[in-house]
Amino acid sequence: MKEAIHPKFQEVKVTCGCGNSFMSGSVKEELRVDVCSKCHPFFTGQQRNMTARGRIEQFNKRYGQK
Ligand SMILES: [Zn+2]
Repeated sequence: MKEAIHPKFQEVKVTCGCGNSFMSGSVKEELRVDVCSKCHPFFTGQQRNMTARGRIEQFNKRYGQK
């Protein structure tokens, strides 16, 4: 690994409020987000109460979203 090329920008694990996680680039060591590509459709139609991933799954089942 050539650490000296981009000392402030690295690949980090991003953890979403819905329980999903993915890799992204950031200057931080770890990221936490409230919404990601998985739960965004849910997020746009609801208030932000996604403290548990089970809520997302229940919502997706109920409304047939993926
Ligand atoms: Zn999410």
